This record gives sequence, C-alpha cells and structure tokens, in this order.
Amino acid sequence: MERKKYDIAIIGAGPGGYVAAIKAAQEGKKVCLIDKGHLGGTCLNVGCIPTKTLLANASVMQKIMHAEQYGIFVKEVSFDYEKMKMRKDNVVEKIRKSLEGLLLSNGIEIARGLAEFLSPKEIKVKGEHNLLIQADDIIIATGSEPLDIPAFPCDHKKICNSTSILEITSLPKTLAIIGGGYIGCEFASLFSELGVRVIILEALDSIVMAQGPSISESLTAAFKKRKIDVQTGVFVEGIEDVPEGLHVRLKGKPAVYCDMALVAVGRKISSDKLGLEKAGVRVGEKGAIPVNEKMETNVPGIYAIGDVTGQFMLAHVASHQGIVAAAQAIGQDARMHYNAVPAVIFTMPEIATVGMTYEMAVQEGYDAAVGKFPFQALGKSAAAIETEGFAQVIVDRKTGQILGAQVVGHEASTLIAEMGLAIANELTVECIADTIHAHPTVAEAWLEAALLANDTPIHFPPKIKKR
Ligand code: FAD
Ligand code: AMP
Repeated sequence: MERKKYDIAIIGAGPGGYVAAIKAAQEGKKVCLIDKGHLGGTCLNVGCIPTKTLLANASVMQKIMHAEQYGIFVKEVSFDYEKMKMRKDNVVEKIRKSLEGLLLSNGIEIARGLAEFLSPKEIKVKGEHNLLIQADDIIIATGSEPLDIPAFPCDHKKICNSTSILEITSLPKTLAIIGGGYIGCEFASLFSELGVRVIILEALDSIVMAQGPSISESLTAAFKKRKIDVQTGVFVEGIEDVPEGLHVRLKGKPAVYCDMALVAVGRKISSDKLGLEKAGVRVGEKGAIPVNEKMETNVPGIYAIGDVTGQFMLAHVASHQGIVAAAQAIGQDARMHYNAVPAVIFTMPEIATVGMTYEMAVQEGYDAAVGKFPFQALGKSAAAIETEGFAQVIVDRKTGQILGAQVVGHEASTLIAEMGLAIANELTVECIADTIHAHPTVAEAWLEAALLANDTPIHFPPKIKKR
C-alpha cells in the first residue's frame, strides 16, 4: 500500500471538510481531503442543494397557480416531475465539478475511499485509492446520514428517507411524512405545492419545535391553509405494505393510509466506522465527537467539525467550524461562537431565525421586549402580493441589545443576514432604527420591528398611552 505524508489530512469532503481543506491549503499546508463518496458531502449531493433546487420548481409552480391575482391568466398548467428531478441532478453535478476544480486549483490532493484511523497520526484509506496516510494534524468531518427506524425500515421505493426520495421520478398521490422537523417540513412544502396530498405525523406537540412556539404556530397555520394535514402528538409504530398502499400504524390512534412514506426522524452521526478507538478519540452520546470552542477533540492534533460534533447540524456551521479547525491546526488562534447562528427552513413560507427566541431570552433572565412587524403592513410586500408572515426582533430592554430575530415569509432566508450581522456585532435596536433602509424593500420590516421594540412605530399604530 502506498504511503503518503501530509501536514493536514481531512476526513470528509462536505461543507465542513472541504472548507477546512481550502483554508489550510491557502496557508501553504500540504493537505489531503479524503471522501468515500461524492465531493460536497450531504449538503451538495443529498441535502441543501438538491432540496432547494426542487423547491425552486415548486415556487415557480406556486406563482403560476396564483397568477390570476396579478391579472395573468394561465390556461392548462402541467409539469413533468422527472424533468424537475433531472434539472436537480444537473445542478448538483455542475457544482460538484466546479468544487473539484476549486480544490485542485488550491493544490489539495483528493483521496477517494473509506478512511479509518490506525493511530492518532495515521489513516488507512480503502477504495478507489488505497493509501496509508500520515499527517501531523487530522480533521474529522464525516457528517451524518438519515436515521433509520428498525420498526419501519426504508425499502427506498415506497418507504423512503431524505436521500432516496430525491431519486423518485413520479409523484405519489398521498405522502405521509414521519417527523415534523425542518427536513420533513421542507419536503412537505415541496410536494404539497406540486399537488401531492401531504400528511405530517409528528410525535411532539408541534412541528419545528426547536424554533420556538411563535414559529411552530405560524408554520402550522400556513401549512393548514395550504391543506397540509399536520397531525401532532402522534407516534408512528409501524408501516405495512397493503394492497391499498401503505398502512401507517399510530400508537392509540386510527391508522393513516398513503401511497408513499418519507421517514424524516433525525440524523445518525457518522463516527462508527472511523476506528476512533485506535486514535483514542472519545465519543459521546449518539456517536457525537465532543469538541471545545477550538474544535479540538480530547486527542492533541485531532479536530472534529460539522454534523459529526452533533451541534447545530447546519452546513454553514460546519464550514465555519472548518475555518476554525484549520486555523488552529496551522497555529492561528480562532474560536467558535454560537450566539449568532442563522437557521433557515425553506418551507413556503420561508422561516429564518438567529439568536434567542423570546422564551429563551426570558429564561436567560433578560427583561426582553419583542418588536413584531407584519408583512401585511409593508408596501413592497403588498406590491408583490407576499403579505404572509412577520419579522420580529427580541431586544434587551435594559441595554437595547438585539438578542434574537425571527422572520416568517417571503425572502426570510435573505432577510435574516441583517440580524445575523447585528447580533454577531452586539448591535442595539437603535443601530437598526438609525440605519437607512431602502424603500420599498422587505428589509424595511427590520426597521419597523426595531421601532416597535422601542414603542416608537412609524408605519404601525402606536400603543395607546396615557398623556
Ligand atoms: P457531510 O456533508 O455529511 O459530509 C460528510 C462527508 O464525509 C460525506 O461526503 C461522507 O461520504 C464522508 N465520510 C463519512 N465517513 C467517512 C469515512 N470513514 N471515510 C471517508 N469519508 C467519509 N443545512 C443547511 O445549512 N441548510 C440547508 O438548507 C440544509 N438542507 C438540508 C436538507 C436535507 C434533506 C438534509 C439531509 C440536510 C440538510 N442540511 C442543510 C444539513 C447539511 O447538509 C449538513 O449540516 C452538512 O452537510 C454537514 O456538513 P459536514 O461537512 O459536517 O458533513
Ligand atoms: P429532526 O430531529 O429535527 O430532524 O426532527 C425529527 C422529528 O421526528 C422529531 O420532531 C421527532 O419528534 C419526530 N419523530 C421521531 N420518531 C417519530 C415517530 N416514530 N413518529 C412520529 N414522529 C417521530
């Protein structure tokens, strides 16, 4: 077996690993990036990019279906889902190719195969390339995979997970989605906009529970308006293939029938095949690798980043952690801070959050104020007939500091960036109020929300005050 020596070896070429590789290579290090699958990891191949490509199709469809509101009359509308899927495959393939070019242009060597530790400084790669790699520093970025439930294993035909459902070429009439987390909800939006009858079956009391009550309540209302059947407090016990389709058994409740089921019950951390015991790396609950703010594991010279650390499980967090780990490995000081992590749910309507919810702020002991501005009251939203939803800021009354922000509605994914910048830089609500926002734009919602948090609204009725 060929032996190779590197300054830094990175296991996993997802948004965590490949970003770490570029950062380390740009600092002059000899870097090897190892992956057993496609470059780009979950995010590019079976996560962020394919889902958002398909959702873009659904969004065009939605606009066409509501074209009448704009005075546009469209006669017979039809679509070919197989073509939509092909477009998704082409987008992924194109980005994958450019990513490979980007890595090579940075002088990064790519090793294709399954990596396994032999010791804290040695890795065996088995697959298309068979190598023994020695590295001064190693970054683990092996991500996660869809979680399978033994009681109803996926057959990837009728019972799919988030990966196999991306491969279907025709749509079912009825789809049951088990799990109302963000992944389940994004697929619910996608398929419901394309005319599939969608039933969400969630064990907890609400969907997207992690985002706090104001978000889960508004998404539930928006889904119900779109005829998505949201069933909460229901625990799926099993799924049987019967002549009528699939029979989804619920604990203590009548069964649900559907043509296809999507199991979206969470993610399994990919740390079990790495031989971590041979490197002495400690593994925590559910396979997550514990790390500190420098992304260091318990073994000097070994770092872990991204989904494998079990924190946040978002692509941009993985990338940021990759920058921190690479910086540490090359002797620079960098640390992770998690107070301003934006999170977007690409449903219709979109949802985006950053920092604390009101409930979190109160729990942390803040005297918190909420400034909530509905898009209904915004000129640009009215002009575009995109009036659903709101933007809200959570503010510390004592100092005026912005603690968190949530937005539901059109362009939420873009809008959240302003609040990310504000929170990361500890800006106050006055900073937002003093910033001139272009008119007419949806970003004006932040200006109005900031003014509302200070009880000084301009485009919203004031609270009745005694003079
Ligand atoms: P991954 O992207 O999972 O990459 C890990 C890589 O490691 C893989 O390529 C794998 O082949 C490789 N690997 C694993 N074990 C080994 C081994 N032993 N040897 C060699 N290689 C190995 N996040 C967002 O921020 N925004 C979104 O819109 C979004 N949408 C999503 C939609 C879906 C359907 C899913 C499933 C996820 C989505 N995510 C989204 C989450 C996002 O994809 C992950 O958080 C992100 O990919 C994690 O990056 P990572 O680098 O940690 O790992
Ligand atoms: P997430 O972890 O955000 O991907 O969300 C997964 C969701 O699936 C969680 O909200 C779980 O409560 C839900 N879930 C897990 N197992 C079941 C089950 N058997 N039936 C219904 N919902 C489930």
